[in-house]
Amino acid sequence: MPLDNSNVSVQCKVFFQCLVNESSQGISVADLNGKYVFVNPYFCQMMGYSESELLSMSVFEIKAPAQEYSSFEPTNITNEDSVVQELLQRKDRTTFIAEFASRNISVADSTYVMRIVQDISKRIAIEQTLVNNEQRNSMVMKIANDGVWDWHLDTGLVEFDERYYTMAGYQKDEFPPTFEEWQKRIHKDDITHATNCFKSYIAGTTSNFDIEFRFLCKDSSYIWIRGKGKIVCRDTNGDPIRFIGTHSDITVQKEHEEKILHQAHFDSLTFLPNRFLSLDRLSIACEEAKRNGELVALLFLDLDDFKKVNDTLGHDVGDQLLIDAANRLRHVVRNIDTVGRLGGDEFIIILGGLKATKEVQPIVENLLNQFRDMFVINSRELLLTTSIGIAFFPNDANDSSELLRNADSAMYAAKECGRNTYSYYTSQMNECAQRRLSIEEQLHGALTRNEFHIHYQPKIDLINSKIMGAEALLRWTNPILGNVPPDEFISVAEQTGAIINLGQFVLKEALAQTAIWQKSFNEDFQIAINLSPRQFRDFQLINVIKDSLTQANVHPSALELEITEGVLLSGHDHVKKVLTSITDMGLKMAMDDFGTGYSSLSYLRTYPFDVLKIDRSFINEMTTSMKDKSLINAVISMSHALGLKVVAEGIETQQQHELLRILGCDFGQGYLFSKPLPVDDMTKLLSNSFDFTHIFDT
Ligand code: C2E
Ligand code: MG
Ligand code: MG
Repeated sequence: MPLDNSNVSVQCKVFFQCLVNESSQGISVADLNGKYVFVNPYFCQMMGYSESELLSMSVFEIKAPAQEYSSFEPTNITNEDSVVQELLQRKDRTTFIAEFASRNISVADSTYVMRIVQDISKRIAIEQTLVNNEQRNSMVMKIANDGVWDWHLDTGLVEFDERYYTMAGYQKDEFPPTFEEWQKRIHKDDITHATNCFKSYIAGTTSNFDIEFRFLCKDSSYIWIRGKGKIVCRDTNGDPIRFIGTHSDITVQKEHEEKILHQAHFDSLTFLPNRFLSLDRLSIACEEAKRNGELVALLFLDLDDFKKVNDTLGHDVGDQLLIDAANRLRHVVRNIDTVGRLGGDEFIIILGGLKATKEVQPIVENLLNQFRDMFVINSRELLLTTSIGIAFFPNDANDSSELLRNADSAMYAAKECGRNTYSYYTSQMNECAQRRLSIEEQLHGALTRNEFHIHYQPKIDLINSKIMGAEALLRWTNPILGNVPPDEFISVAEQTGAIINLGQFVLKEALAQTAIWQKSFNEDFQIAINLSPRQFRDFQLINVIKDSLTQANVHPSALELEITEGVLLSGHDHVKKVLTSITDMGLKMAMDDFGTGYSSLSYLRTYPFDVLKIDRSFINEMTTSMKDKSLINAVISMSHALGLKVVAEGIETQQQHELLRILGCDFGQGYLFSKPLPVDDMTKLLSNSFDFTHIFDT
């Protein structure tokens, strides 16, 4: 039914009344003097005054006192339709920020100001919090020096902040902020991992997005980045739509980590994998070989006579030699093979993925070849050889530690074969390794248990066939091991350091015995005693020699000290000093085993030797090999020219004896005359006969 006009106006009035009364905004009307003429209930409630109280007040009376403005800047209410903010004071004197929308209205020729009022305190507080948060976040980012990305997964748009670019040397916005541009700059080795991490986080498979990767810089270098992010917004289906995160530059941290890791895994001298890493790689290689039905060859290398180098030339030269040796080893193998340093002068080489054992042979030959050239250290030439033990997995061992043990045994076998060679592992080798261990065990305390004694091998003057002295040779009888020959225990004693006390024992015993024989049989009786290289490192050596001579009351000229070339190897000052003080004391120095090792004639000129002992191996061959005979001839002539006496070792036959006499050799020792004898037998020999002329008669 159509409404008539009067009805409409009545209804409008009711609507208007309702609107004003129920409004959740304050509505007020004031005359031009500011006196309220109308206020709605919400405005009353907002101000805490009743309607009648407000209608008796003016707009100025609800303003907060001036001092409160300091924290709030009011805007002027001058313009029509202006929106201003002002601090108002409620009846209870509390204040709040109000926003007014003001408009002038005309009613019955009079002008009024109508204001819609809103309490915006809460909104302002929220805005302030947001501003604070934003400032704090950006401050935190600045301090953390992180780059920020904000990725809208729904639109595919990404935002990178300035630091995101500058951290990698780019200008801000130098490349478009897209997922593809990010991916493009990730190092090829990290891309798969980074992308997978991202995908699984977005798919919800992982709960964290925290990855490390290398990121390409503008100058083509890479920095390490730690990327962390979180999905901050999801759609109604729960699908992620916004993903925010940071890029932190962790290059320095990574470098430190790598350094620490490197130190834990690599040898600081040679930069080769250390024992820990080498053995780890060995067990991985064995596992792989098991899976693939292949072979692993383990080469165990030990540098020959390296200890002598260290003892005589000093640790600096030793270190340099190890570095150079490590470099030579590295060059022989493929990139995939491991060359590692187990410690000291021990190295291993792991050759994986082999189909047959014979594949190793050329590599080993090549390795030995590498050591044929001299090492040049501080412009001094040194020859260093290596002994190699070889064992195969799974042929020779069930696991990596057994493989290592067996390759080690094979290495010892190579040493016993004369060094500078290689040996394949055989099951008997375990027994040898076992024996070395027992020797080491039994050697401990053997001296105090009186298990050592000395045998004496007579030395014959080849001109008159008389005994002119003897060489003292150490003997060891152990209740468990029985008689152990010096060739077996001396090297172990050198390694453990037991040789120092053993050496002193020999000096004291042999000199005391010499004094007895000199008194009883021949006052010119000479005694020769062997000195091991390790004894040269003992600073007490000279004093011990002096004391032993004094105690025994033996003249220094009766003592001859035998050393092998190993002690010399070069002109190290310390060795020269010791040798000089020995000869200054009036002792004689003999070079033992000449003809083995390097046999450098220059040593004879450099050091104060009195005697040269030609090794048994030469004497052995001299009657059958013209070459050996000529060599001996040359050595004797040259030694004489240098003022040295010559002793031939290991004379076993009459033929050898005669030939040596003809060649002018001064002295001889060997089974032909006598084996090394216990004290009593030697005493008998000395008391029975002084000469061996009967030998010529046979
Ligand atoms: P070396 O100083 O060259 O001693 C000579 C070796 O040759 C001795 O072996 C001796 O028994 C042996 N020999 C002597 N004449 C003959 C012969 O006609 N035929 C054969 N086949 N052999 C002969 P030994 O006593 O077994 O000593 C071996 C090595 O052990 C010695 O070689 C020496 O280097 C070392 N040695 C022995 N006693 C001592 C010691 O008190 N101190 C040190 N540092 N080393 C020692
Ligand atoms: Mg000797
Ligand atoms: Mg000898």
